[in-house]
Amino acid sequence: MAALDPAANCGRCPRLRSFRAQAKREFPTFFNAPVPNWASAQPRVMIVGMAPGMKGANRTGRPFTGDFAGDLLFDTLIQHGFARGEYGNSADDGLSLNECAIVNVVRCVPPQNKPTASEVNNCRRYLEATLAHYRDDVEVFVTLGSIAHNSFLSCFDLRKKDFKFGHGAEFALPTGQALLSSYHCSRYNVNTRCLRRRCLMAFFRVCANC
Ligand code: SF4
Repeated sequence: MAALDPAANCGRCPRLRSFRAQAKREFPTFFNAPVPNWASAQPRVMIVGMAPGMKGANRTGRPFTGDFAGDLLFDTLIQHGFARGEYGNSADDGLSLNECAIVNVVRCVPPQNKPTASEVNNCRRYLEATLAHYRDDVEVFVTLGSIAHNSFLSCFDLRKKDFKFGHGAEFALPTGQALLSSYHCSRYNVNTRCLRRRCLMAFFRVCANC
């Protein structure tokens, strides 16, 4: 069976491997490695994000944990029953997921939060393996941002024009599962009002009722 997570020293993307090494020198206490999936048993909802943030998941080693995007996402997940406990900005905060999985399409922190197309392609093997592993459990996929959305579509050989990314867009996949897309819950999108907190709440209310 294909690996769901990359090896800690994965070097398929030379630029990202160098950037990890640079981060290790600059921030030796950070995780500084490909960030693995985080999933409860039998996840009903799978959240597909883009890549670790330098001082978020690249610091803590857990998807979306440690930066603004995580504050917003975990607050929302807790309120809708997809996470339990208190979110504390670290991988050992005791928070647990409930019927939920969180994955990134690129596992290594990219410079300026921008992976290249070839890096997204290189890392897709882990997304494909993850989707195959949970295919009998997941009922709803949530893609956060267009990069995550389009890489997800590629795993199923689906065309972008048939499943066009848009905030709040809902699709029925040929597999019978639902796909919802949303703007990424980044600080930039919230500050520029592309995404409002109440919109993300409403969005996950839909997931909870799917
Ligand atoms: S982004 Fe993925 S494929 Fe590229 S080096 Fe990191 S783990 Fe490997």
